Amino acid sequence: MDRKKLADLLLPGITKTIEDYEKMYPERNIEEGAIVTRYAPSPTGLPHIGNLFQTFISMHLAKQTSGIFYLRIEDTDQKRSIENGISKIIKSLNDFEIKFDEGAVSEVDEKGSYGPYIQSNRKEIYWAFAKYLIENDMAYPCFCTEEKLDEIRQKQEKYKSRIGYYGRYATCRNLSIDEIVKRVQNGEKYIIRLKSPGKFDNKFIFNDCIKGKMELPENDIDIIIIKSDGLPTYHFAHLVDDHLMQTTHVIRGDEWLSSIPIHTQLFRMFNFKVPKYAHIAPLLKDDNGTKRKLSKRKDPEASVTYYHEQGIPTEAVILYLATVANSNFEEWMDNNKDKTIDDFKLEFKKMSTSGALFDLEKLLNISRNYLSRLKACEIYERVLNWTKEFDLEFKELLEKYKEKSIAIFNIEREQAKPRKDYSCYSDVKNQVWYMYDELFDTAEKHYDFQKITDKQEIKTILNTYLSNYYSPEDDNETWFNKMKDMSDHLGYASNMKEYKNNPENYKGNIADISNVLRVALTTKSMTPDLYQIMKILGIDTIKKRFDLI
Ligand code: GLU
Repeated sequence: MDRKKLADLLLPGITKTIEDYEKMYPERNIEEGAIVTRYAPSPTGLPHIGNLFQTFISMHLAKQTSGIFYLRIEDTDQKRSIENGISKIIKSLNDFEIKFDEGAVSEVDEKGSYGPYIQSNRKEIYWAFAKYLIENDMAYPCFCTEEKLDEIRQKQEKYKSRIGYYGRYATCRNLSIDEIVKRVQNGEKYIIRLKSPGKFDNKFIFNDCIKGKMELPENDIDIIIIKSDGLPTYHFAHLVDDHLMQTTHVIRGDEWLSSIPIHTQLFRMFNFKVPKYAHIAPLLKDDNGTKRKLSKRKDPEASVTYYHEQGIPTEAVILYLATVANSNFEEWMDNNKDKTIDDFKLEFKKMSTSGALFDLEKLLNISRNYLSRLKACEIYERVLNWTKEFDLEFKELLEKYKEKSIAIFNIEREQAKPRKDYSCYSDVKNQVWYMYDELFDTAEKHYDFQKITDKQEIKTILNTYLSNYYSPEDDNETWFNKMKDMSDHLGYASNMKEYKNNPENYKGNIADISNVLRVALTTKSMTPDLYQIMKILGIDTIKKRFDLI
């Protein structure tokens, strides 16, 4: 029997050849320098922040070079797939504006002409490529049972050899065609292995787009390419798919760096152009002074749902990830206020080679800045949307008092230096609850009176203010002048400079007086502009709250 027939026997029923597939996946019509890249998750769970980081980088690089970013689903380990895994991945990335030009769009649909993009639908293609290797004596069937492989491993441990199926340990490597045929006809189970031409002592130079130049040993392991369930291993599917789908850059986590010798070898055995590789270092967390990988198990911020639950705007998350990706981003943004993140030129060379620190505080800071620049009505819509899922009590108030709520959010907003009160939507209620009677009346109140604590004096101030100095129609300036008048009248300094020079002449100053009003109305000694708060609360509420003191 010749090798062609042998390949047919081992992987039967395949009608197309590699050449046929090359024709079906023609060269892409893209500009010189355009990056074609992909996100290739297994549908085993939701993406984590590291995946989001990676997809942001990949999408941005594809966009900035007028290239293609596609989604390929790597479901060759079928036992681990979760229900609706593909849709869940797509939805959670879409929430962060990560969109694909091509690829799977649901469990059953896809777009683009380089598919199928779901690996379990590509079995025949992998088999055609594996057959080519068998025909050319570059792959072979392996009949070793689990027990046999265990035995090999034990032997290697005993002699302190490298673990793996290679060299003299690769016992099925040199079976004759006759022997193979006999064993197949006897019904023995087999998998297909690569006949690795590499030598471990040989080194080759490899240039990673992020990590730079590296020297690595060649691969000499006869890795499995087709598993017992007929599906390919990750390594083999990577070769076939990234070749046919014309990936120019494989951008992935650096846990795959050690696979480079295998991957380069596979591409060379087929005489295919090796794609460029960019291995992204993991996001790190500062854990009491030591840096460790961000962990989905230990760190809530590692899962993307965290941002949704906290109500951290997705735009802020992406802005932060951009600063982690290229540390010059922040400065660029400051100097290019008229531009958007899409205009920023991301560079591999500026990415961390060993792992960038993920700092939630910094992210929240970016978020605070971002939210402070939104219009009051935009904040209103966003907070309302968030409450629909996470705070129904607040949602009802927001709906019932729409105009009032927008006025509340507008205090010290839409101006050159807006207030930065909220770092996320879940912060908002904690900051503005006292503006709603429903929340104020039922709250357990801790009045934070500071300088003036004497009950009688407080009452005097409140009563004097209401009877002689308050008028709902006053504009800001009149309001302030009246506060001054009242200070003078009650023996408090209305002029701070004057007070500083002769404090002994006064009971206190105008700030102490306004603080009494502020705390009586809100319980808090720090709030946004008191004049506007009073304007929004209105006379009835002001009276009611003063009466409580
Ligand atoms: N399926 C692999 C993973 O989930 C993809 C790695 C790659 O991008 O090549 O990590």
